[in-house]
Amino acid sequence: MACVRLILGDQINESHSWFRQVDERVLYVMMEVRSETDYVRHHAQKVIGIFAAMRRLAERLGKAGHRVRYFKIGDKDNQHAFADNLRSVFKEVKASRFEYQQPDEYRVDEALDSFARSCDLPFAMQSSEHFLDDRKGVAQHFQPEAKRWLMESYYRVVRKRSGLLMDKDGEPKGGKWNYDHDNRKPWKGEPAVPRSWDIVHNHQTLWAEIQAAGVKTFGEPAAANFPWPQDRAEALKQLKAFIEYGLPNFGDYEDAMHTSSDRLFHSRLSFALNVKMLSPKEVAAAAVARHEANPKEVSLAATEGFVRQIIGWREYIRGVYWAKMPSYREGNGLNHQAPLPSWFWDGQTKMNCLRCSIGQSLSTAYAHHIQRLMVIGSFCLTAGVNPRAVEQWFLGVYIDAFEWVELPNVIGMSQHADNGFLASKPYVCAASYVGKMSNYCSGCTYDPKDRLGPKACPLNALYWDFWLRHQERFANNPRIGMAVRQAMAMKPAEKTAIRKKADELRQQMDSL
Ligand SMILES: Cc1cc2nc3c(=O)[nH]c(=O)nc-3n(C[C@H](O)[C@H](O)[C@H](O)COP(=O)(O)OP(=O)(O)OC[C@H]3O[C@@H](n4cnc5c(N)ncnc54)[C@H](O)[C@@H]3O)c2cc1C
Ligand code: SF4
Repeated sequence: MACVRLILGDQINESHSWFRQVDERVLYVMMEVRSETDYVRHHAQKVIGIFAAMRRLAERLGKAGHRVRYFKIGDKDNQHAFADNLRSVFKEVKASRFEYQQPDEYRVDEALDSFARSCDLPFAMQSSEHFLDDRKGVAQHFQPEAKRWLMESYYRVVRKRSGLLMDKDGEPKGGKWNYDHDNRKPWKGEPAVPRSWDIVHNHQTLWAEIQAAGVKTFGEPAAANFPWPQDRAEALKQLKAFIEYGLPNFGDYEDAMHTSSDRLFHSRLSFALNVKMLSPKEVAAAAVARHEANPKEVSLAATEGFVRQIIGWREYIRGVYWAKMPSYREGNGLNHQAPLPSWFWDGQTKMNCLRCSIGQSLSTAYAHHIQRLMVIGSFCLTAGVNPRAVEQWFLGVYIDAFEWVELPNVIGMSQHADNGFLASKPYVCAASYVGKMSNYCSGCTYDPKDRLGPKACPLNALYWDFWLRHQERFANNPRIGMAVRQAMAMKPAEKTAIRKKADELRQQMDSL
């Protein structure tokens, strides 16, 4: 008689209360299954990173005295679906109870709920003990019928509740809730970017097993120099190094991009956070502690900017996902239907900003927020690519991509496909923004200053055409009305030329 507890690949949480006591009547089950490797085509590093972390957790639990049943991707008795493997285990151990932690993905949540109800055993879904708020927290904060929710108002509630960066009188530290406007500097080679603090592994054996099992992936596996953490101890080292070396400049250069550094001052903690090696609370608290210990070295603006990402955006995005699924993924408010250009799979485009951002994503399974939003996302939005195609690419390519966080970021924040429910303005840009925030344009075949000539930067015509196409919808939006009015004030001949140029670009997207 045994209680069978399932641990999913994004539940690598060694601090979970399940593991506080060793109980020989409990059997932990972990499995590498094709249902999870195949629901979308994943980047090779994503599959390696998750399996490596699962194997390490199983090993650590075993060493601590817990009973673990682990299905490897190549095991003969692996039936490659949660339900089938669990049924076999239930039989093997004469299970008397089934428990699992709350899944974060709608798809897995539905599947496990219907499996648990069908398996004729008492069962319980327990908290993953990771997030600051529960699934319904965001929905409860807003009026259900509201046309749009604003992250800022939810963030203030979470900040008050957490006490992070709050004065004793209940006011935000420094008198302001938000220092976003201080975080807008380009990076020109100074201050020096810290040396990488990644801990490198050799996962060639695991990669060979994944390939032998026939799993189809894309992107560079980097199996011999694998740079992502495998367990909590490594993730804590990564956190410590970021707080020490990255955080002091995080805020100032949060929006900057540069060909000489993939990460600049970003943390690269999203993988460790999303597989739950680290908790959001400890990550935010570590940043606040560093600021409080030395406010001259780590400014309030840098700290607040970082804390807002973790306890604001991350929790808010999750709440939107749970409030709006499953219909949210079908959103296509601007009726965009173009296919994803072929160079999304090999990075071979002449547009240097996209070549660098996509090329980096394919080789490292990572791009920072502004590369995702203002380069890759903005191109897709202005070119009119189907948001679902964009979403599936984003879900596969990044090591941190799990649907609960990826989907609202793509469908809502980046592609405005939810009619502005999550973000109040579309995030689009022309070459002037890319030129201001990066050095991409200096290595480009295209001319960032030109809109219409044969060498004109494609982003320019696509940008102005976007506003012309959607002028009625956005003209009264106070956050972007100026850009729309500028487009509307163009002479008719100029408007026609922009539209013609944008149409031509859309006809030849694969060769841009
Ligand atoms: C189109 C698009 C797709 C995205 N897809 C994902 C995804 O699949 N998974 C993912 O974790 N993040 C996603 N993000 C959010 C963000 O870009 C990444 O979290 C961040 O780039 C990860 O790198 P980092 O750890 O160096 O982040 P940092 O810049 O160091 O930020 C610190 C942490 O803040 C959190 N964070 C910051 N912004 C967001 C946000 N908008 N939503 C949720 N959390 C946030 C992350 O946990 C991140 O690790 C996406 C953003 C966009 C615009
Ligand atoms: S010129 Fe245009 S395409 Fe080239 S890097 Fe600059 S913004 Fe990108």
